Amino acid sequence: MYIIFLGAPGAGKGTQAANVAQKLGLVHIASGDLFRQAIERGNELGLKVKAYVETGMLVADEIAIQVILEPMSAPDCQNGVILDGFPRNLKQAEALDRALALQNKAIDWVVYIKVSEEELAKRLSGRWICRNCQTPYPSQSSPPRVQNRCDLCGGELYQRPDDTAETVRKRLMVYFTETAPLVDYYARMGKLLEVAGEGSVAEVGRRITAALRGRERIAG
Ligand code: ADP
Ligand code: ZN
Repeated sequence: MYIIFLGAPGAGKGTQAANVAQKLGLVHIASGDLFRQAIERGNELGLKVKAYVETGMLVADEIAIQVILEPMSAPDCQNGVILDGFPRNLKQAEALDRALALQNKAIDWVVYIKVSEEELAKRLSGRWICRNCQTPYPSQSSPPRVQNRCDLCGGELYQRPDDTAETVRKRLMVYFTETAPLVDYYARMGKLLEVAGEGSVAEVGRRITAALRGRERIAG
């Protein structure tokens, strides 16, 4: 089962992708997390992508494609994966289709989490994230129970350097110009499952489960 989670920054795709991966027993591959890990470690990849990630620009396609396709070839990914943050433009989507086709595989479904632009801007400004499990805490609407600590795992909360107002605007602009066309690309293939992204994490999660359950490829 190969499922892509598509949506703007702040749509909640990371949280939902992680939950679905756990439910279906699939590996969750999040491109942004892989880049942030590399930056934190200060390795060669991290040095290459730091300036892009921190200013809200897309990392070069060759790099993004390599960073995603490499873990996908691991033995624990042979039954499929949940992709989150990749593909982010048509070139990446086509590269992914080609790589899967070489193994007689294909994307099964694309879960598109739709959220209004106004709501996205609200969610992203001032958001804190758990360093350990990546759970986001929009500072005003849902503060953690213990200050600076994650409710779920007790991890330390931090602010992503690319969650500043100016960079948020940039990331949304990049999303609408580069990534949004993928909605049509997958709709034309009959693979798009559109889900309303407003409401609680649990509500949106139920909508996603319902959308996936209605599909024969999941029911088996
Ligand atoms: P968000 O969806 O909230 O913007 P991500 O964690 O998915 O956050 O991505 C953070 C940053 O990592 C992006 O702004 C971009 O710089 C880089 N990035 C992530 N995935 C890709 C990709 N597939 N191609 C190019 N750059 C990427
Ligand atoms: Zn946590």
